[in-house]
Formats: sequence, C-alpha cells, structure tokens
Amino acid sequence: MIICIVLLCVLVSCSESKKQREPAAASETPIAVVSAKEEAETIVGWHTLEQKVLVGDITQEEARKKFGYYDSLLAASYPKYRMGSTKRVFPLVGYSSDDIGGKNGEGYRPGGYNWFDGNRHGGHPAQDIFVKDVNQDGIEDGTNHSIKVVSVCRGIVVSLRSGWTVGSDIRGGNYIYVYDPWQHGYYYYAHLDSILAIIGDTVAAGQQIATLGRSGKNAYPKRSPTHLHLMGLSATSTGPVPKNLYNELCESSRRNQSPHCPFQDVVDIATLSQEIVVDLKYSQEDNFVGEDLYGDLDVCYLREKPARMLVEAQRLLSEMKPGYLLVVYDCLRPRSVQRKMWNRVKGTPHQKYVADPDRISMHNYGAAVDVSIIDNEGHLLDMGSPFDFFGEISQPRFEEKLLEEGAITATHYRNRHLLRNLMEKAGFKSIGSEWWHFNAGDKKRIRQDYTVVE
Ligand SMILES: [Zn+2]
Repeated sequence: MIICIVLLCVLVSCSESKKQREPAAASETPIAVVSAKEEAETIVGWHTLEQKVLVGDITQEEARKKFGYYDSLLAASYPKYRMGSTKRVFPLVGYSSDDIGGKNGEGYRPGGYNWFDGNRHGGHPAQDIFVKDVNQDGIEDGTNHSIKVVSVCRGIVVSLRSGWTVGSDIRGGNYIYVYDPWQHGYYYYAHLDSILAIIGDTVAAGQQIATLGRSGKNAYPKRSPTHLHLMGLSATSTGPVPKNLYNELCESSRRNQSPHCPFQDVVDIATLSQEIVVDLKYSQEDNFVGEDLYGDLDVCYLREKPARMLVEAQRLLSEMKPGYLLVVYDCLRPRSVQRKMWNRVKGTPHQKYVADPDRISMHNYGAAVDVSIIDNEGHLLDMGSPFDFFGEISQPRFEEKLLEEGAITATHYRNRHLLRNLMEKAGFKSIGSEWWHFNAGDKKRIRQDYTVVE
C-alpha cells in the first residue's frame, strides 16, 4: 500500500513536471534510433515524393501524408546535435546581400504558394540573388569563371534534378534540396548549371554544391538576368511552409565581410575544440523571449582561461563517457545584448532570470557558460527541465527536495551531477538557481581579472 502511494506520487509529479515543460521542450528532437539502411530509404523516399509532387503525379492528400512520414524520419535520423556546426554562410561566393533582388527583400512573395502544387505553384516565396553576367552565358563577367553556389548550412542533400534542357517547362531547372536539421527545414537552390553533390550527401556550410546557371522555364529567356533562386522551407505538420530568408542572408553576408572578432581579448571556442557543440540559444528564436537577440553574434566567445577550462571539461567528459559532448547555449553576452534582454523581460515574471545590466552578469565578462551534455547518439541528456526553463525544477538548490518529491527522477539527478562534477573539476563554479550555468571561478576574482565587454 505504501509503495503504491509513493509510486502514485512519483507518477503524478512526473506528469505535472512534464506538463510544465511542454512548451519549451516541444522543439527538441524525438529520441529514435534509425539504421543506415533506414536513413537511405528515408532520403530516397523524400526524393521520390518531391519528384512526384513536382509533376503532379500524386494527389495532394497523399503527398501531405507522405511528407509528414518522411520528414519525421529525417528529423529522427538527423537530430540537430549530430550535425555539430550551426554556422550559416551566404550561398553565392563573391556576392553579398546587396545582390538580392528588390529593396529590403521584397522579392519574397509567399502569397498563393503551396509546395504541393509542384511545378504549377503560385507566388514567389524566395529570394533571387543576381550575379554579374550581362552577356547571359552563365559565366561571371570579368573573372570568366563559373559562379559557385555553396550550401548555406550543414545539411543533407535530399533531392535534386539535373539534365534540364531548353524547352522543358520545369521552372526550377536544375535544382537541389538540402535538409537543415538545425531549423528543421529545407533549402531549395534553383537555376543551377552543374550539381556537385549527390542525394544522401552530408554537406558542410560553405561547401560548394553547384555552379550557377540559367536553367528553368522562366530563367532561361533573355528577359531574365542570371540569378540564384533560393527558397527556405520550414517543416510543419501540414507540410513545408516558405519562410523569408532575407534577414538570415543579410547576417551571413555581413559576417562574410567582417569575419574578425569584434571584441578584444576573447577567443572563439571553435578554434580550441572541434568537439564542443555551439548552440547559442539567444542567436536563434529558440529561447524564452522567442527572438534572435544576438543578431550577428553566433560564435561562442570566452576569455582565454575560461575557454581552456571548458576544453578541459570536454576532455574529462570524453574520458568518462566516450562519445559524449558538451553543448554550450550561451557564452560571452555583451552588455548591449544584456540590455536588450533586460528591456524584454522587465516587469514580467522572467525578470528575475536576466541579470539587470547595471548589476552585470558573469556572461558580460566572457567568464560564464550555459552548458549541457549530448550522449553518444546525439541526444541531449535529460536534466529534468530544459535550458532556460524558469521554475524550482531548474534550481540545483532544491534538487534533493525535487528528487524526494519525484519532481525529478534519479536519472535527472545523476545527469545534473555528471555535468556539475566535470565542470567543477575543470575549475568552474555552479550556482544554486540554474543547473546549466557555470561561472569560470569566483565572481570576485572574475571582476578583478576582466573588464565588461560592451
Ligand atoms: Zn548563464
């Protein structure tokens, strides 16, 4: 009887804590193990579906079902953390956001577009990027070279079509689709000449995937200047939905032009470790504010000593648990960004989780990290609450009580201790209010050693 009551308590509090967690956890990838054979079948399935949709060889109802099926298999096969880098690059080498058609990206017109209409779709849910090719031979004026199309992100080639000939009514001409595990979506590059990847390839951000051409029903005629047609699609439960890539393209283009670190005396963790996964939550919309607050800043910068300590923590983790990786959610947070965050949360219940810019966070010194652990299959360890979940359940100071009450399980407790142990061994200090936050030593010391990064 007593056992039953205890068990009941555990079940009730677990389901309660789950309920609380749902909104923030929804974006996490489901746990599934997919074999290499299944991966190949998934990609071929996606490609076959896409080709059928293009020519209208499948009913929309059936296509929608199949899309949901293959898309969720892709998400399970390629959890984002399996992919490492979050880096995004501008898709045309030697060009920039100045070459995007229309003012401020107004060439993007999603109205009337439905992916399931295939080649007969309406709207123009894409950005066109124009190149120097006045004589329209597909060769860049001045350099006499072909124009390189590179992948915007690290991803998987899931479909392509080549061999377009004049007279064909296929509007995209030669094109390629790349699956983006980080944003769970797709990039579609059209009007290509040669395609330099095959279906199933994993391509890196910045890796050349094609040369630009003039293929496609409306791209070939003289009236059309040579351009890349780039469409971004978000995978949703009702199918792929276009998104405007304008801001993303401007950001990657700005980074191309000024690749150097804008801050003094900090290091990019990626230059010290290829293992540590960088997933800065505030440089995406996947955070508690729901906005990209970091803009251009998508690199984990830290002061050199804290950076070396983090590398040491990864070394300890690899030793204890081969194949496990640290994932960092936040590193240096310049004070200007802190102000922006503060203004967002001021007067809301979230206020207490963002340091007042006048009070200064250790993140402002580049001497604090928000971090978690990924297992050897690419899945986040379950810590009982997601990063930036605000509530008692996230606070180490209540852990013993939470465990006793069953609000967190023994596994959650163990996982948190694993993280804390190795971070502390590497010289970090944990805090009582967030399981993911670690200061690079004593606060007083940090204030003495470093200046705030504005
Ligand atoms: Zn933090």
